Amino acid sequence: MNIMEIFDTMEYGPAPEAANLGLAWIAEHQPFGLFINNKWVKPASKQYIESINPSTSKPLARVAAANSEDVDKAVKAARTAFESWGKTPGHVRARYMYAIARHIQKHARLLAVLESLDNGKTIRETRDIDIPLVARHFYYYAGWAQLMEQEMPGFAPVGVVGQIIPWNFPLLMLAWKIAPALAMGNTVVLKPARYTSLTALKFAEIMQEVGLPPGVVNIVTGEASQVGEALVRHPDVNKIAFTGSTDVGRSIRRATAGSGKKLSLELGGKSPFIVFDDADLDSVVEGVVDAIWFNQGQVCCAGSRLLMQENIAERLVAKLRVRMEHLRIGDSLDKGVDIGAIVSPGQLKEIQRLVNQGVEEGAQMWQPSWACPTEGYFFPPTLFTNVSPATTIAQVEIFGPVLVAMTFRTPEEAVALANNTRFGLAASVWSDNTNLALDIAPRIKAGSVWINCTNLFDASSGFGGYRESGFGREGGKEGLYEYAQPVWEARMKQEFHIAENSGNGAAASKSSADGRAMAAQQEAGEEEHKDDAGENDGMSAYRDALPAIDRTPKMFIGGKQARPDSGYSREVYDRQGRAIGQVGEGNRKDIRNAVEAAHAACGWASGAAHTRAQILYYIAENLSAREDEFARRIVQQTGVSHADAAREARASISRLFSYAAWADKYEGVVHRPPLRGAVLALPEPIDVIGMACPDEFPLLGFISLVAPAIAMGNTIVVIPSPQSPLSATDCYQVLETSDVPAGVVNIVTGHRDTLSQVLADHDDVDSMWYFGPLEGCRRVELASAGNMKRTWVSYGHTRDWLDTVQGEGQEFLRESTQVKNIWIPYGE
Ligand code: NDP
Repeated sequence: MNIMEIFDTMEYGPAPEAANLGLAWIAEHQPFGLFINNKWVKPASKQYIESINPSTSKPLARVAAANSEDVDKAVKAARTAFESWGKTPGHVRARYMYAIARHIQKHARLLAVLESLDNGKTIRETRDIDIPLVARHFYYYAGWAQLMEQEMPGFAPVGVVGQIIPWNFPLLMLAWKIAPALAMGNTVVLKPARYTSLTALKFAEIMQEVGLPPGVVNIVTGEASQVGEALVRHPDVNKIAFTGSTDVGRSIRRATAGSGKKLSLELGGKSPFIVFDDADLDSVVEGVVDAIWFNQGQVCCAGSRLLMQENIAERLVAKLRVRMEHLRIGDSLDKGVDIGAIVSPGQLKEIQRLVNQGVEEGAQMWQPSWACPTEGYFFPPTLFTNVSPATTIAQVEIFGPVLVAMTFRTPEEAVALANNTRFGLAASVWSDNTNLALDIAPRIKAGSVWINCTNLFDASSGFGGYRESGFGREGGKEGLYEYAQPVWEARMKQEFHIAENSGNGAAASKSSADGRAMAAQQEAGEEEHKDDAGENDGMSAYRDALPAIDRTPKMFIGGKQARPDSGYSREVYDRQGRAIGQVGEGNRKDIRNAVEAAHAACGWASGAAHTRAQILYYIAENLSAREDEFARRIVQQTGVSHADAAREARASISRLFSYAAWADKYEGVVHRPPLRGAVLALPEPIDVIGMACPDEFPLLGFISLVAPAIAMGNTIVVIPSPQSPLSATDCYQVLETSDVPAGVVNIVTGHRDTLSQVLADHDDVDSMWYFGPLEGCRRVELASAGNMKRTWVSYGHTRDWLDTVQGEGQEFLRESTQVKNIWIPYGE
């Protein structure tokens, strides 16, 4: 092409990044071994898988195909390393992590080239986004390692962590997982995605360079069925952190149910990109490019649903088509291309299949006139219009460069359309009216909301989903709690483990409260005796002659006392086996009514925190007026001494005060990531929480769960302790007289496990708390996989609810909230 012709077309020439150093590094190392205990070891299977360059479809490298034997070896190495790494001072961990960050920067170009070769993503993105963010994560979390002892007193590492990452951001996902894990003192076994292991293996080499102690980080490559599943099921892994598809996330939830493994899942999305008619449309067009054509649309939070206000739709679509016509597609190492290759032929086929389905379903497809390269796995940027919200392409994660556009008329319609998905990972809102954008952001069910921007990430700001996009957060301080546990909990698990191994499991699981109850029974008997003596006057003789007025509590649903649907009652017994009352036998229908009532009370979340605080104080005030009566009820049900029961009643009042105090103080933070702007990290209620109360401390256990949940704006359906439900049913009148709006607290008595199962299965329940036997915990976790609801279960352990460290505080507030990060860039 001569200069005149270049001036005519204004076409960019090729600007290839040199691949030679990356290819030389691959040649020098392959076939790649597994990285276990800081050594390269051959896989037990002696098998290798091939890594392909998606831009050329040619083989790139041979990578070890591990199996469960290798996984076991890696977990053992991590366990041994944990003994010392878990006790290493934060400053020492910070030094290692600082060194890792520095070494990533030193090898930045090699890492960027390897990532582009292996994944097919453009060098522009790996060089300017992925790798700098990887370094940033290690710097940021080096800081938390340094600060852990001061800022998180009372927290310990979780132990050995199994981490499973996808292929779309191979090294960045590794950093999101490994950096917070190491900062908190955990050791790691990481499985990269089968298609993209190379940068993880270069990272392993960096671990050797910085002299990280052996076994702290282990990298095990191979297939999901051999490595991923073995890691998930390994009994000596304490936590699984997974990023990938919702289907696999669901299967991991099921596989780990009842195992006591901590779990965080970052899953799929179908994120809305909402454009109001006052937005700057040229900026919007560039935003759309970054939302859906960044990384070929293989981004969990890709803005894949374009929602346009009706009056600008035509203009915006026309502008978009012009821009799409000018996008450049090609070899990932070409610095001038906008769109690289799709990761694999399988993924390419799946995108094509969904696009065909979109056409069959009647949507109108548009692609630019230019052709994709014929070598490699390429798919052109694609725009669908005339899309109906219920069609497959509007609902399913396509995970490719495919945008589906729909229209709305009013902000209310925009919110309804945005939330019309089972996912909830991210959203973008475009408007020049900040008031409107900031009004819309909290109404969208998503973990990240970008205002007039999209796909921004930073280590300081948490990332993670609502609904079927998973649970748990990566990034920010909230990300640390995924890799840490309260010291008392770690100690309790350790004691339980020792007792179980010494054959004393039954003793280990015995509730401390049960012990308390038994020890106090004698004392209680004596006190009862004393009370009788004190009341031996004429009046009490008259009272004794009258039969007691029957009090049979019903269900408490939607602010009303409702008869149980079954028409059955269940007997309540004291510790001597004497019948002391009856409560309704709740069933599936009662739970469904309660969930409906809880949803109808959603205005509770948007009300002022000050009001919620006032109502909690009011509940405390009304409870305190009947403190003695509540204490007597505790004695009657549990047989503890009157003194202990009085202590429990008083602690319940104090607990209500605590959460009244927190209601307007657990407010979130403002992050200042490296951009001109701010990120508001707001703890939002989870919505409807189902909860099964513990048997120990019938009043305090109930209040300790109810109070934080409603303080944070959730509405709840509570199953009181089946053994001692009367303390909870006695609260009906307290709730009725304390201005608690109808439907905020719903109480259904009955069989704990039967009712919990209905709640855990229910698609309109967003989180389930269960404090009861291990088998019940397992069932709840298993059932929760249906809509991927969050769970918080006790694994059959009991806690000392009187203790303010175990029984109240920020752990309860974290379980009651999910953090939404709202990104607000500013400046011209
Ligand atoms: P997967 O969810 O299958 O894979 C993600 C990771 O999990 C990989 O390391 C994979 O290993 C591993 N894995 C797969 N099955 C299991 C299992 N049963 N137990 C343990 N680990 C397992 O995603 P795919 O790569 O198959 O992509 C399919 C779809 O998933 C995409 O089209 C997209 O919709 C979605 N996806 C979402 C991502 C996100 O960031 N939210 C990322 C990637 C995909 P291996 O590579 O060996 O199969």
